Amino acid sequence: MSFAKLIGNERNKEILQRLLERGQIASTFIFAGPDGVGKRQFALTMAKAANCQKAPVGGFGIDSCDECVRCRRIDAGTYGDVVTIQPEGQFIKIAQTRALTADIYYRPREGRQRFFMIDGADRLREEAASSLLKTLEEPPPTSTVVLLTSRPEALLPTIRSRAQRLNFAPLSIFEMEQYLTANYPRSAADTGLLARMTEGRIGQATAFDLSVYRQERRTLLEMFELMASGDNRFRLLKAAEYLGKKEKEDFEKELNLLTSLLRDLVLLATGKSGAEIVNIDVADRLGELAAKIGLLRLMDWVKKFDELRANLRININRQSATEAALLELAE
Ligand SMILES: [Zn+2]
Repeated sequence: MSFAKLIGNERNKEILQRLLERGQIASTFIFAGPDGVGKRQFALTMAKAANCQKAPVGGFGIDSCDECVRCRRIDAGTYGDVVTIQPEGQFIKIAQTRALTADIYYRPREGRQRFFMIDGADRLREEAASSLLKTLEEPPPTSTVVLLTSRPEALLPTIRSRAQRLNFAPLSIFEMEQYLTANYPRSAADTGLLARMTEGRIGQATAFDLSVYRQERRTLLEMFELMASGDNRFRLLKAAEYLGKKEKEDFEKELNLLTSLLRDLVLLATGKSGAEIVNIDVADRLGELAAKIGLLRLMDWVKKFDELRANLRININRQSATEAALLELAE
């Protein structure tokens, strides 16, 4: 993906494109930010733009064409001058950084600038980080190291002080919708929901299974509707049984989903709408439900489910605790 097609983190785009234009790519970068916000994509685009055979000018400076042999090979991960290092097991090992420091002084084999991407750079063991440090002190001008991390504070201060740091933030809902529309076209309802569910993290959008989410949500919504009318204790007990039988981890997931629905209901009950509502595709149904339950009662629900979540940490019987909570709230 070229800079022109990347969405979000505009300031970083500007900095990188201007550096590329001036031929002043730093020898060491730290790309810091939560997982899935596009750090790796930006690093790859920088590598492409620096080596692209066409290197078109667009946006803030030099961009990649995404069509020439080099761009295509960098995208495919088969370009010898772009090397990626990832943790082997829990850590990046010293053998890996030694291989890097031996390799980094060679000139580019085919392009103009070599790139060494270190994914999960916070998992460099101290020994491995120290071995890297000497290289970062006197880096060869035709090689660039990019340290990608969600925990920049875990890097050695001596490494941090030698690098140019760019911070990456999650995309706004609007940016996320733009990104999804351009790259993964689907219905407006799906795009809206996905943009909200993934909390601005591009990397999550491709892994998120909307149909599973909707199915689970449907069950919980029906449960809320039963609780709101309070007239079908048998079905409510069935719902409690369904939740209570889940494994602890899945139960927690259900509680997260339940919390997200409750948050939407509270927002709707206070007259909010639009971007703040996560489950935007069922906003009408949620709106009706919110009106039926009312804000005061909803606040009770929020409190009760918070308690349920807290109790989950001390090993309670999930099923009976859920039953008790649901029946109490349905009264
Ligand atoms: Zn190109």
